[in-house]
Amino acid sequence: MRTVYLNGDYLPENEASVSIFDRGFLMADGVYEVTSVLDGKLIDFDGHAVRLQRSLGALDMQNPISKEDLLEVHRELVRLNEIEEGMIYLQITRGAPNDRDFVFPDPDTTKPTIVLFTQNKPGLADNPAAQKGMKVISINDIRWGRRDIKTVQLLYPSMGKMMAKKAGADDAWMIEDGFVTEGTSNNAYIVKGNKIITRALSNDILHGITRAAVLRFAREAQMEVEERNFTIEEAKEADEAFITSASTFVMPVVQIDDAVLGQGVPGRVAPRLREIYLDESRKAAI
Ligand code: PMP
Repeated sequence: MRTVYLNGDYLPENEASVSIFDRGFLMADGVYEVTSVLDGKLIDFDGHAVRLQRSLGALDMQNPISKEDLLEVHRELVRLNEIEEGMIYLQITRGAPNDRDFVFPDPDTTKPTIVLFTQNKPGLADNPAAQKGMKVISINDIRWGRRDIKTVQLLYPSMGKMMAKKAGADDAWMIEDGFVTEGTSNNAYIVKGNKIITRALSNDILHGITRAAVLRFAREAQMEVEERNFTIEEAKEADEAFITSASTFVMPVVQIDDAVLGQGVPGRVAPRLREIYLDESRKAAI
């Protein structure tokens, strides 16, 4: 059984419970982060901690924990649950006033709820899917306008994954005004020649922590990066495509709807970026 963290306590997972009045439960009034673990160490912890603070700030929500303590909790959960490869899920909600009300509760009397738990995923880095590549379908992006805030409001992404599953695909890319925004739980990229193309940062997409690292490594490796909108048609004619996220790192995409990219197997750029990302991230892990 897992040991989880809830509001300052380490508890067996079946003893950790949250109020029915918690605003995360009633209103999706909460934010989250997912940090991956390789070799028992945290990947990009700093980036996730910074983005968490940004999400909380954007929602005028208090941060119940300092960055130092947060690191300590992550490390303690890794230790207690003996995680070599996997993820740590963190969620902070606006807490549980003793009723349901649209108005934010007074932060002096209603404290945020903070939960962390581990997900053990042996073989996360050695994922066979990286050899094969993924198939994605395109769906309309009907999410709200602040996708840069990492809220727990994941119903549409969840529905998108189900649409993909039903279509025999692995994931969905979302389209707005003809342009790809991002994947249901990842950032989206195409490759043309030697150029890596991905949508620029704005409120339209989540500012991926893996995205930032991968683009930095790509530029350091003298690869050309263009941050701009691309259409789904352009994507279907690309040489390669891939996604990035904390739990998939860099994952090649070999098919978009009915369009097979290149030879229908991962190309040169995405696997190379995956290798660089994994190498560099392991080196920098804490
Ligand atoms: N976009 C969306 C919509 C996501 O949910 C995620 C992962 N949570 C990402 C992008 C990738 O972000 P990161 O690299 O920080 O995991």
